[in-house]
Amino acid sequence: MPKSMEQIVALCKRRGFIFQNSDIYGGQQGFWDYGPLGTELKRNVRNAWYNTMITQHDELFVPEGAPSAFQMVGIETSIIMNPKVWKASGHYDLFHDFMVDCKSCKSRFRVDHITTRVVLDAATNAPVACETYMKDVENDTGLSKAQQKRLDKATKEYGKPTIEETMPLDSYMKLAGDQQSPPVAQCPDCRGELTDPREFNLMFKTIVGALAGEESTAFLRPETAQGMFVNFKNVVDSSRVKLPFGIAQIGKSFRNEITPRNFIFRSREFEQMEMEFFCRPEESFQWYKYWRDRRFKWYSDLGINPDNLILRDHTEDELSHYSVGTADVEYSYPFMEEGEYGELEGIAHRGDFDLRSHMEGKLVREGNELVVEKDEHGQPRHRGSGKDLTYFDDQTRERFVPHVIEPAAGADRATLAFICEAYTEDEQPDDKGSMQKRTVMKFHPLLAPIKAAVFPLIKKDGMLEKGADLYRQLKRAGIASTYAHQGAIGRRYRQQDEIGTPYCITVDGDTLEDGTVTIRDRDSLQQERVHVDKVVETIRCKLDE
Ligand code: ATP
Repeated sequence: MPKSMEQIVALCKRRGFIFQNSDIYGGQQGFWDYGPLGTELKRNVRNAWYNTMITQHDELFVPEGAPSAFQMVGIETSIIMNPKVWKASGHYDLFHDFMVDCKSCKSRFRVDHITTRVVLDAATNAPVACETYMKDVENDTGLSKAQQKRLDKATKEYGKPTIEETMPLDSYMKLAGDQQSPPVAQCPDCRGELTDPREFNLMFKTIVGALAGEESTAFLRPETAQGMFVNFKNVVDSSRVKLPFGIAQIGKSFRNEITPRNFIFRSREFEQMEMEFFCRPEESFQWYKYWRDRRFKWYSDLGINPDNLILRDHTEDELSHYSVGTADVEYSYPFMEEGEYGELEGIAHRGDFDLRSHMEGKLVREGNELVVEKDEHGQPRHRGSGKDLTYFDDQTRERFVPHVIEPAAGADRATLAFICEAYTEDEQPDDKGSMQKRTVMKFHPLLAPIKAAVFPLIKKDGMLEKGADLYRQLKRAGIASTYAHQGAIGRRYRQQDEIGTPYCITVDGDTLEDGTVTIRDRDSLQQERVHVDKVVETIRCKLDE
């Protein structure tokens, strides 16, 4: 693991993984470009996801922990959808964050939690002082000096330690009533005064057609999931899927994030890998548990140390109004405090919320029920499609609305986690045996942008030709490879280590005599001699291990 994000950002730029978007014009905040190696890496992340979810999925087999065998299909839907989709789904009214601005330095922060510190009277347990500040996972406005002083004074006087409580900001605003905003906190950048929190819808607006107006306003999708819900009926009617089954897609999503921060962790344009799993309501909790555990394992199977990962169940007040259970897979990114984790993927039990919303209209919670929200005339606030999205089970002759389990992952956040996890610094002997610092990206071979590098040791005696021939064999076999004949061999190895190439193949004097080459392993530095005719097969076996 790297010590800091600066090391990661610097390596990504130096070696062509990720660049600031529109770099030569000073960039555009919240947007990033993938360079030659980053493109390969992210493609490998996407392929690893799509292969396990769809291509390699075996619908005849019951996986461990699953209630039954199941089917999986892929889909690819448009970024711009009919605006009615976002009205029925609730995004139009509810997809917002809270933001505060600093009145002095004009910095802007996204805040989603409010923390209250209360000092109690040691004798009576009654609260005697209370201070509040706002935070989200990446920003923390913290207590001001004056607030801290007041708490310290009360603690001294009344002798009981402080208790702390954190609550989502929207629950707090609801409790406090819309008129009352939380007490003013201080700017973490300059300690200036902050404005009251304001809601900010995260969907990017655009115009479809030549005329601007309410009628032609559309939105860039903030998630890919709705593409699966609105095509549920099309998929059921056109393919041979039977419950339980999943519809998955990978695609771009857009959110006008208030504070895009921490490199590609929070950007305004990003890529999601989402799957909607439709099942019978009575089996839904078993499926929820299955997907929760399976998705966690995906990250550790691809090289993330489980010590750096957690599977965190949402608390009651974190749950969305429609969700009966949500768990996040979280990773300890280098920009987080010790013991804190950032979301990689959310796995949500969404009940029948989505299909019902697209049938009936925007739903709100009333007690334990989800009901269609009404306007002041008693009409649905946002109508659904009116289409029948129920499922008919021809075995049991029942008709019902399936329940949905949704594992929603971010391709960029996963790529960032794989980069952070791979980053390693060690010391290795150079050609002359003296120890040298080395930066090595220990990517899982499946994810490494380049799998093999071919090095002719010197330019003479036909080594160049033998090397070029081997390089071409690897390329023809579909193994991403590179070829380099210049520079000291140690230097060539280190260049490949820094981009995470797992195998370096050297053509040397012995090759000309007995036809063998060396294959050097990036992590163990072990070298083995393999006949040139067996190299493709050997590398392929190593990649499949
Ligand atoms: P956060 O709480 O961090 O804003 P979220 O809970 O809103 O994330 P979801 O709506 O569950 O995220 O989206 C599913 C996944 O999409 C996330 O787990 C994350 O990997 C990815 N994702 C969401 N927003 C962003 C973003 N702004 N930049 C990069 N990836 C994102």
